[in-house]
Amino acid sequence: MPHFPIAARVVTRSQALALNLRRYFTGRPCKHGHLSERFTNGGACIECMRAFGAERYASNPEYRAMRIEQQRDRRARARA
Ligand SMILES: [Zn+2]
Repeated sequence: MPHFPIAARVVTRSQALALNLRRYFTGRPCKHGHLSERFTNGGACIECMRAFGAERYASNPEYRAMRIEQQRDRRARARA
């Protein structure tokens, strides 16, 4: 990845929406202190989502089964 200064990558959520970006970067830490990108859809911090997903994946067998199913779907669609 090229080494842009952080400020150069900062976009507002409305810019991200206008550009159809899936993720955007505010340059400000989330409420849990992660300095990472946010999802344009919902504005959630990626690190938070990752931590939340991993925790759920580990502790919730139904969620795990659902995720495995989704991945299989996605792979099947990519082949088609
Ligand atoms: Zn976070």
